[in-house]
Amino acid sequence: MFTDFSLDTRLLKALDALSFTKPTDVQNATMPAATAGKDILVTAETGSGKTAAFALPVLHALLDSPAPQSGARVLILTPTRELAQQLAKHINALAQFTFIKTDTVCGGETFKPQAARLRKNPEILVATPGRLIDHLDKRTISLDDIEYLILDEADRMLDMGFQEDVERICSTCPDTRQTMLFSATLAHAGMRSVITASMKEPVSIKL
Ligand code: AMP
Repeated sequence: MFTDFSLDTRLLKALDALSFTKPTDVQNATMPAATAGKDILVTAETGSGKTAAFALPVLHALLDSPAPQSGARVLILTPTRELAQQLAKHINALAQFTFIKTDTVCGGETFKPQAARLRKNPEILVATPGRLIDHLDKRTISLDDIEYLILDEADRMLDMGFQEDVERICSTCPDTRQTMLFSATLAHAGMRSVITASMKEPVSIKL
């Protein structure tokens, strides 16, 4: 039951509105470790419910400790613009009864309006690695306030040649952040390096 995870009532209300009556396997397996603040490494397929598995603990934590902040507190890296838009839509639905705002930072959009939107300080950023690097180079984004870093579909980000960008982004986020990595497989060349660059003593969850 979602009520077993002592989630904020605004999140329980959203789950009810979305008709999510019980957690999926990946949600049951991931949420306790995520809530305990551990770095986690999850092998799970798309369609398993992994978005809510990381989003619910993170949203709960943001609601539990609202911070007067200057920058985003959560960064989600994902391989493509389509996936970024899908993730943002899903997270916005889970956060629909809260003050939390999610925005996307992806290639294929003009740069300037994106930089202007970022000045509105969304709490959660969903980004593709290439465009995020452009913003870092132009200093139109700061990752200084990131508390939670999620690497979504890590195997696909490696397939697309983003290893160097992902590792640079990880090293730009504060050391104190919590990191969660989701991948369909860990067998990719470069995956060990990304894991070492991004996580400290991760808990492994295989589904
Ligand atoms: P994801 O793997 O995060 O892309 O989720 C796959 C689909 O499962 C999405 O359409 C979600 O809306 C749906 N979903 C996620 N968690 C639940 C749940 N606990 N109950 C019912 N549907 C869910």
